[in-house]
Amino acid sequence: MALTDILLKYWGFSSFRPLQEDIIQSAIDGHDTLALLPTGGGKSLCYQVPGMAMDGLCIVVTPLIALMKDQVQALNAKNIKAVGIYHGMSKVEIDNAIDNCVYGDVKFLYLSPERLVTDMMRARIQKMRINLLAVDEAHCISQWGYDFRPPYLRIAEIRTLIPNTPILALTATATTQVVEDIQEKLDFKDARVFQKSFERKNLAYMVFREEDKLNKLLRICTKQKATGVVYVRNRKRTREIADWLVQQKVSADFYHAGLTSQERDAKQDAWMKERTRVIVSTNAFGMGIDKPNVRFVVHMDLPDSPEAYFQEAGRGGRDGNKAFAILLYNKADIQNLEQFHERSYPPLKEIRKIYNCLGNHFQLAIGSGKDQSMPFDIHKFAKTYSLNTFFIYNALGFLEKEGYLASSEALANPSRLMFLVSNEELYRFQVANPRYDPFLKMLLRSYTGLFTEFTRINEEDIAHRNGVPVEKVKKVLLDLHNMKILHYKEQNQKPVITFLEERLAASDLRISKEVYGERKAFARKRMEAMIEYVTSETKCRSLYLLAYFGEKGGKRCGQCDVCLERNKAGVSTYEFNQVVKYIKPKLQKEKISLEMLIDDLDLNLAEEKVINVMRYLKDNGKITETGDGILKWRS
Ligand code: ADP
Ligand code: MG
Repeated sequence: MALTDILLKYWGFSSFRPLQEDIIQSAIDGHDTLALLPTGGGKSLCYQVPGMAMDGLCIVVTPLIALMKDQVQALNAKNIKAVGIYHGMSKVEIDNAIDNCVYGDVKFLYLSPERLVTDMMRARIQKMRINLLAVDEAHCISQWGYDFRPPYLRIAEIRTLIPNTPILALTATATTQVVEDIQEKLDFKDARVFQKSFERKNLAYMVFREEDKLNKLLRICTKQKATGVVYVRNRKRTREIADWLVQQKVSADFYHAGLTSQERDAKQDAWMKERTRVIVSTNAFGMGIDKPNVRFVVHMDLPDSPEAYFQEAGRGGRDGNKAFAILLYNKADIQNLEQFHERSYPPLKEIRKIYNCLGNHFQLAIGSGKDQSMPFDIHKFAKTYSLNTFFIYNALGFLEKEGYLASSEALANPSRLMFLVSNEELYRFQVANPRYDPFLKMLLRSYTGLFTEFTRINEEDIAHRNGVPVEKVKKVLLDLHNMKILHYKEQNQKPVITFLEERLAASDLRISKEVYGERKAFARKRMEAMIEYVTSETKCRSLYLLAYFGEKGGKRCGQCDVCLERNKAGVSTYEFNQVVKYIKPKLQKEKISLEMLIDDLDLNLAEEKVINVMRYLKDNGKITETGDGILKWRS
């Protein structure tokens, strides 16, 4: 089948987006391929289409369980067989899923990097017919990057098992350094790199230094009578700001990861359908959300890196029409960001200590505890061991990234169910209790293995299929549980921590000082770049970001606050070009200082304007000044 036919048949899209087809073809041709497409650019299709076009199975490595699940569900809904391996699945469940990949006709297997390199997977991978190894969020492999996850480094290990299988690595943001690093760490051979420019022509970047951010926000929301996103760091603030906007008659709601998934879905849905106009959120909002007509994205706090900012701001204007990416900051924010940076990297000693306390808390002997999950109350834990919750939180983040643990915000903890009676006994029960009969029949139709294994169920699905409220489903399940017909384990809403490795002695914890220290330094660099982005008043914002991502050349955007200000300084595009036309050949030819240049100037223009243009050119890297005041044109 032609690629476009696959696209149409399974996804219902009539054409590929820019670069998608090239990337897909490169993977099919067997080249190791790196695809850099912005968020929402359609990276998933880049491995899903080749996966469908070729015989065999495509393995997809991805770090986020939530996204993994969405993708598996979305593929299943298209009648494409896909499975995912998540923490919390029993051994038997995992075994079955993988068996299906070896002997069945599964087309996509979604895995975390930790899972990929287990002995069990290694043994089974050799029996699978793997057509492509896709590595999503590939920037996670680089310690230069903003989201380094050490388990990613091990992905290349399995290349020796499947030497003829190409890798397709995908990411939205990567600096030049990270682009190189990805290829090296994944052992790329015969590589093809496809990169869509980071330029967003319809996005106007604005930075405002504001003491009264709320009122500025209100002005923005009133002026832009359209859908918007407002990003804030703090969960509590999302609610406060949304409430305040509502008082000011702006249709707004708030969103963060601490809400239940039902609440989040409802809020997201209302915003998607434009019943809510403005959503005030932490950075939890946006992943996997694709709304084309977002007209403004406001940041009330400074993001900690240009990468993060670019991704979040980039959710504006997906439809190609003009949109605004607005950042509000003041001096206090810069201090806060610096403090935040320090606290985000707790001292190594502290991480070790917290790891040790966790082991004690869960009463795990050294050398045991692998794959054990335990409910975790962070506040109680903090109190018992007199630890600071913020440190605990960040230390967990490190331990999670190093692959020692998983904590439950990322992992799901679904409800499970198993019959306690035999098939025959159940049948007799159904006959004796006809009012339960339709419900039980439906259960048996929807799930397999209920008599032998705890099986994950989804009450909402069941409710949907039966056309009854979800509470009713839970009640019936509970009744059946009490009658000892089945065992119903309702989803545990409490946070859970899973040890992915045996507990180690704290001194054996591998978080190397060098790596840790370097990472902290990289993070500081990114933070400083972010601060420079907002404090510089003379660099075109778009050009600044492009340069950060290693794109050279490019034209000033003409619509960011800096460019608009420059226009206000009284220089028209015509005048600007006139100056450039005059000085460029001059500077290329001879060494000359600013005074000489201006003295010599034979243009019908005010000196002030010329100086404005020169300053602009300097700030945007077109002109450099050597130590003795001599100007040079950089081409
Ligand atoms: P990314 O992973 O790059 O952020 P996704 O793969 O999640 O992006 O895709 C974003 C959205 O774009 C999805 O809703 C997807 O269905 C849609 N999409 C991708 N490719 C196409 C296409 N060729 N035509 C129309 N829509 C597409
Ligand atoms: Mg994606």
